[in-house]
Amino acid sequence: MARYRGSVCRLCRREGEKLFLKGTRCYTDKCAIERRPYPPGQHGQRRTKISDYGVQLREKQKLKRLYGVQEKPMRNIFSKAVTMKGVTGENLLSLLERRFDNIVYKTGFAASRKEARQLVKHSHFTINGKKANIPSMILKAGDVIGLREKSKSSVKLTGALEANSMREIPAWLDVDKGKYMATVKDLPRRSDVTSQIEEHLIVELYTK
Ligand code: SF4
Repeated sequence: MARYRGSVCRLCRREGEKLFLKGTRCYTDKCAIERRPYPPGQHGQRRTKISDYGVQLREKQKLKRLYGVQEKPMRNIFSKAVTMKGVTGENLLSLLERRFDNIVYKTGFAASRKEARQLVKHSHFTINGKKANIPSMILKAGDVIGLREKSKSSVKLTGALEANSMREIPAWLDVDKGKYMATVKDLPRRSDVTSQIEEHLIVELYTK
């Protein structure tokens, strides 16, 4: 399936909450969902009854849009979550949180997950000292990401940690701003996922 190229603010309005897809603009009063808090389109303000399936589908779409993951990779991550010990829904969220692009975003190297994915693809980072450019890599506890030497000459990249400092860094990550490095201290727990996700709905949808 082709990647969505339309307005990302429409995605937030469709899901009825901020998904923080546009970087710093999301933290200002220019945010589209603050101005128009109803679904996009001609009939966006109509009240419609939504089925149980519709509720599950919307929750799954919200999760995909939040992390910028397409359907096939999302199903692959779900399959992995099923095989892990523990609660499947929580495993799913933990795996998504530990994606390389998400960690680059969470540590503040990028203003949005989309930007993070682009920076990773352009080989600006290392994992444990080795060049890494696959945004979907799942990191584990103890892994260290850092800026590559050649990328430290980029003011945009070195200034990003300060520029994005209004975002709270999750407790499972440790960021050394001076060295442009971040360590995965621990695996993220359910309580570390601050987005409003009802993961049990997604598990119900995928296990139908
Ligand atoms: Fe969503 Fe950000 Fe657009 Fe607001 S500004 S609607 S949070 S993408």
